[in-house]
Amino acid sequence: DADLSGDFAKIMELAEKYTKMDVRTNADTPKDAAVARKFGAKGIGLCRTEHMFFEGDRIKAMREMILSKDEEGRREALKKLLPMQRQDFEGIFMAMDGFGVTIRLLDPPLHEFVPHQLATQKELAAEMGLSIEEVKLACDSLEEFNPMLGHRGCRLGCTYPEITEMQARAIIEAALDAKAKGAKVIPEIMVPLVGIVEELKMQAAIIHQTAEKVFSERNDQIEYKVGTMIEVPRAALTADKIAEVADFFSFGTNDLTQMTFGFSRDDAGKFLKIYQEKGILKNDPFAILDQQGVGQLVRMGTEKGRATKPKLKVGICGEHGGEPSSVKFCASLNMNYVSCSPYRVPIARVAAAQAAIED
Ligand code: PEP
Ligand code: MG
Repeated sequence: DADLSGDFAKIMELAEKYTKMDVRTNADTPKDAAVARKFGAKGIGLCRTEHMFFEGDRIKAMREMILSKDEEGRREALKKLLPMQRQDFEGIFMAMDGFGVTIRLLDPPLHEFVPHQLATQKELAAEMGLSIEEVKLACDSLEEFNPMLGHRGCRLGCTYPEITEMQARAIIEAALDAKAKGAKVIPEIMVPLVGIVEELKMQAAIIHQTAEKVFSERNDQIEYKVGTMIEVPRAALTADKIAEVADFFSFGTNDLTQMTFGFSRDDAGKFLKIYQEKGILKNDPFAILDQQGVGQLVRMGTEKGRATKPKLKVGICGEHGGEPSSVKFCASLNMNYVSCSPYRVPIARVAAAQAAIED
């Protein structure tokens, strides 16, 4: 309900006039996408699909998939999730009519989706016709000591390719549906947590095969892109190889900060304040991009990627994409876009314009 006229509109108009870099948004729902459009976002730089698995019946199907004993069981459960995902994506494509939409494949570790309380585990056991011991054992076996460094991101897609297949199908089918309704859509499918080029090769092959299948079933086609997050230091170090397989790069600076410093995203808050008080660190590196360390990996990844593909589209979708000094750093690397949460879009647009003017 904010008033977007007057001085605000004037500043946004000036930002538009001078900026050389687009600002996209991180959005998972058509509502967020619509808010960001009002603020002038030029597309979605990160749609985190895992958020779509928690609501209503979806979490049930997701749990069924995770606890299935074999691939056939997982495929049956994934069939239930397919129409829901398709509908979500279509809504987002329609809201972003004509602008780029980057959809990221499933990222978090699977234990985040299963119940940890005995009462809920009992309910699930009854629903699935399993014993409580079986369900408890299956849930416990998903526990990890370091889940953020564990079985997540493309590691899930590599071990359970049927998940990637379902999500790729939902994205391509939704894009064809949106196209039939008159929207202009070029979906960008993004693979998370790649550190080894073979991971991306394997995921890209599944996506391309699935797209071809859908095109022949529907007797229709669309253009689409397959790219990757650069958020593991090894991906930045080997970006020349990764660019051979990727249509675009998006720096996930939340994970890249975690892995470059070796600071846990979940726990570092406990001592980072003291580090700042003692002058060891000037800023919280999760809030403001560390230009000396993490930033050098971002620079290296961008340069190596573009050495392989001079026109490689490069953006950033970590929290830093909405923080002014980090946005300016991204502009200095000639990134195509930064992506941030909807309410940070205006400030990012101003920072991008200031960077262009200072340049
Ligand atoms: C990141 O790691 O910077 C990122 C955008 O992904 P997520 O925060 O979902 O891990
Ligand atoms: Mg990440």
